[in-house]
Amino acid sequence: MQVRRCIHVSGIVQGVGFRPYVYRLAAEQHLAGQIANTTAGVVIEVQGSPESVDDFLLRLPKEAPPLALITDLRILEIEINGDSEFRILPSEKSEAVRTLIPPDIATCEDCLRELFDPADRRYLYPFINCTNCGPRFTIVRSIPYDRPQTSMAVFPMCPRCRAEYEDPLNRRFHAQPNACWDCGPQLELWDEFGLRASGNDPLGEAAAQLHAGSIVAIKGLGGFHLAVDATNIAAIQRLREHKHRVEKPFAVMVQNLETAERLCELDVGDRELLMRPERPIVLLPRKDLGDIPAEVAPFNKFLGIFLPYTPLHHLLFARNSLQALVMTSGNLSEEPIAIDNSEAVTRLAGIADYFLVHNREILRRCDDSVVRRIGGRVRQLRRSRGLVPVPVFLKEKLPTALAAGGELKSTICVLKGNEAFLSQHIGDLENVEAYKFFEEAVQHLQNILEVGPSTVAYDLHPDYLSTRWALGQRELKTVGVQHHHAHIASCMAENHLGGRVIGFALDGTGYGTDGHIWGGEVLVADYLNFERAAHLAYVPLPGGAAAICEPWRVAVSYLSSAFGLDLLKLPIPFLQQIPQPRILTVLQMIERKVNSPPTSSCGRLFDAVAALVNIRHEVNYEAQAAIELEMCRDEAFAGQPYTLGISEENGVLQIDSRPLFRAIVEDLLRGATAGKVSQRFHDGLVEVLLRIAEILRKHTSLNTVCLSGGTFQNAYLAMQFEQRLREIRFDVFTHSQVPAGDGGLSLGQAVVAAHRAR
Ligand code: ZN
Ligand code: ZN
Ligand code: FE
Repeated sequence: MQVRRCIHVSGIVQGVGFRPYVYRLAAEQHLAGQIANTTAGVVIEVQGSPESVDDFLLRLPKEAPPLALITDLRILEIEINGDSEFRILPSEKSEAVRTLIPPDIATCEDCLRELFDPADRRYLYPFINCTNCGPRFTIVRSIPYDRPQTSMAVFPMCPRCRAEYEDPLNRRFHAQPNACWDCGPQLELWDEFGLRASGNDPLGEAAAQLHAGSIVAIKGLGGFHLAVDATNIAAIQRLREHKHRVEKPFAVMVQNLETAERLCELDVGDRELLMRPERPIVLLPRKDLGDIPAEVAPFNKFLGIFLPYTPLHHLLFARNSLQALVMTSGNLSEEPIAIDNSEAVTRLAGIADYFLVHNREILRRCDDSVVRRIGGRVRQLRRSRGLVPVPVFLKEKLPTALAAGGELKSTICVLKGNEAFLSQHIGDLENVEAYKFFEEAVQHLQNILEVGPSTVAYDLHPDYLSTRWALGQRELKTVGVQHHHAHIASCMAENHLGGRVIGFALDGTGYGTDGHIWGGEVLVADYLNFERAAHLAYVPLPGGAAAICEPWRVAVSYLSSAFGLDLLKLPIPFLQQIPQPRILTVLQMIERKVNSPPTSSCGRLFDAVAALVNIRHEVNYEAQAAIELEMCRDEAFAGQPYTLGISEENGVLQIDSRPLFRAIVEDLLRGATAGKVSQRFHDGLVEVLLRIAEILRKHTSLNTVCLSGGTFQNAYLAMQFEQRLREIRFDVFTHSQVPAGDGGLSLGQAVVAAHRAR
């Protein structure tokens, strides 16, 4: 007896070796039938004995190729016919194929073996790839994802490549970027003026230049990297000077896991994470020993490490005795990453000494992704290359919506059905280049998803470029979403929550509904609305935005709220290190309410404590003071939390930090170390947040807590708070698919807007 079944497959099933896989599986199960790409996704028909068909259906999702992502399987019983073999039907070019574009993927083991096999025809070819690996998202102009719609369109395949491409049983069947020495892209080394500097071995010459201490701009998958030898202090310092990047940590690409192991502490989970096909930068505790100088990541106990992910990277390490390269985005600080050869030469003029370029165009900028494990769970710090455009799956279908994101570390989001597509990391929307990138991302994402949302969500901050852009979209319905509400909705969405939750949204800056700068917020929220249930008591922020770069101003503000003018008499080292006229100026600004907007920011509270213990009076990158404060904790003082007060004003709980600052001053007068103060501060914050959670549980009978906002990138705070909440039987939800920081904001905005539209 024979049966025939029709299977509709949705998800990422194109350009990932899915059809050859199904073909092989059908052959193994002795099934006849066919597979086709249709407007509704991939459709398979199989015919054979009921047992074989059942086995096939069981194996289909289980053994799918590593890059395939099956989101839905629908199976129908259909009439048998006279098929006696299994066939792969050609795609109909005229029909839009509704499968998702895959992300860019690191070179696979099979390709690596061929790359270093002298007998292979692609021996040492820097652009080797197959259906299991290589560029995807970054070379796509439009859909359907097929060679003519990619930047490989200008490279006609040679007969041998063409034969592989057309053979359903070949590893390169429909591998769109398939190429070889004869027909594909080639490398060149250029000098700082963009003139050809290489003979016939650009790679070897680039490797030699790196070895000699030069800064080499290297064209990668989603943009240029600036690379230097990670053991060469002078080269690193030059790179910092040229890039105007004073102390912000650089990431380091290491040759292999052994080198990673030598530089950092890593466990099984970290090793797996480093080896993932998306090859993220992983933040890891660095070991003291080793030949990587502190200049790579000054004042930092962590190092961002990643493994080679293109054939070019592998070849660079193979051609070189270097085991570690600083690899940082090819841009001037805060600008988007450069992707075009001539753009790179122009924008990186005065930064790079050489350019290792090639003629395969990058069509989509895409920075490296950055992740970290906290409490065994992966947290996204930057969700970009390798992860985009994989959607976040939602609990239910929602109306189509677009979200413009925030300002810092921004992303945008498009909702389609039950899938939320976040863009790659766009960066800080503070300059023209970034704004152009933002507009490109909005167009491209809508284009590849074939949607034209009628609703656009935006942040309430009137000065954000993303907000202005959204409000300028006359033909769209605009929905303003409060910053911290978006954070909590983002956490709810990725965890498939419904109903109301208690949301802790802790971060640096978000525009409040009262026009003040919020950031230490506890909300009772659902997707539609929120109530501000508790927040850090307001303090003046003398200098406004300028105070963000100068934490000492915030420390003076907090001291003045705790001590009034008596603060001037406090014999603590902090006050002796800041010139008194500057302190007096700040006090006057506060008193006369000049450029001193009130803030409930949690980031500024960390800044104030960091300044007060003299860790950092001024910062040169975002969250630097808070990061260094976290790292200096002295665990010997764990379990001795400072006390913070809770009061109530018009039904809203206020966290009073005056007792905290009095206690810190007392500690400092007794000669306490920064490590002790930091530890007691972290523990104190956890305690007061726990008390708030309990009070709100009593008021609302809610037991579900969501944690979001950039402050939860503080590993100690996040872990402690989560653990303690669970101990008192809260259901706690955090982020793992999108960043807790503003990179995840657009997801929350989109779901709020979609719910309001519905
Ligand atoms: Zn491969
Ligand atoms: Zn070829
Ligand atoms: Fe935020």
